[in-house]
Amino acid sequence: MSFNIAIDGPAGAGKSTIAKKIAAKLSYIYVDTGAMYRAMALYFLRLGLDPEDSESMAAACGSADISIRYVDGEQNVLLNGENVTPYIRSEEVGNMASKSSPVPQVREKLTQLQKELAARENVVMDGRDIGTCVLPRAQIKIYLTASTHTRALRRFKELEEKGIRESLEAIEADIADRDYRDMHRELSPLRQAEDAWYLDTSDMSIEEVVEAILGRVAQYREK
Ligand code: C5P
Repeated sequence: MSFNIAIDGPAGAGKSTIAKKIAAKLSYIYVDTGAMYRAMALYFLRLGLDPEDSESMAAACGSADISIRYVDGEQNVLLNGENVTPYIRSEEVGNMASKSSPVPQVREKLTQLQKELAARENVVMDGRDIGTCVLPRAQIKIYLTASTHTRALRRFKELEEKGIRESLEAIEADIADRDYRDMHRELSPLRQAEDAWYLDTSDMSIEEVVEAILGRVAQYREK
């Protein structure tokens, strides 16, 4: 049976940084499910769909083939065969992803893909509904969070490093909006699974968080 680690939490909590490091330490596969929702969002943006038009999104998602591939250990997302990894990190795509992710047909398609992957491989999978819906039987579940301001600052720096300049205030407002939508949608809202470990990383370094989670994994295995 594969070993699954589920990491959920709001935007900018450090999920991907932490999940990547844990996956590398354990030689597991890192699965960034947000990237799949972003690739789908990019598809809708390219089609010129209105972010509020969920009916058209439901109809269009059938013709989007999303898959992932690993190149030198890095996850690449393919949209109908094209590697769209470089185009999915903007705030525009992130916002579209949070508006299109509540569409049931979108979620069904992507969660199916995620479940298949986790059944086959040992994974560290991050997202919003991994511990609650995608992998309810994951051996380890973490709910990773940090204050809105801390998360906005992290996102600001991450974008800056990529040469993208956005105002901190705009990012903070976007994050707050996105959290609200993710937490209040009808289908698979972002919430802590009952058996997930709550970890507030506002005052923790990346290394401290990684060590804490690896400690949990070791503890679980000793049981
Ligand atoms: O994590 P990231 O910011 O890349 O995710 C983009 C959006 O995709 C989120 O705001 C959320 O609406 C959606 N998402 C989701 N379920 C997941 C992962 C992401 O609904 N498992």
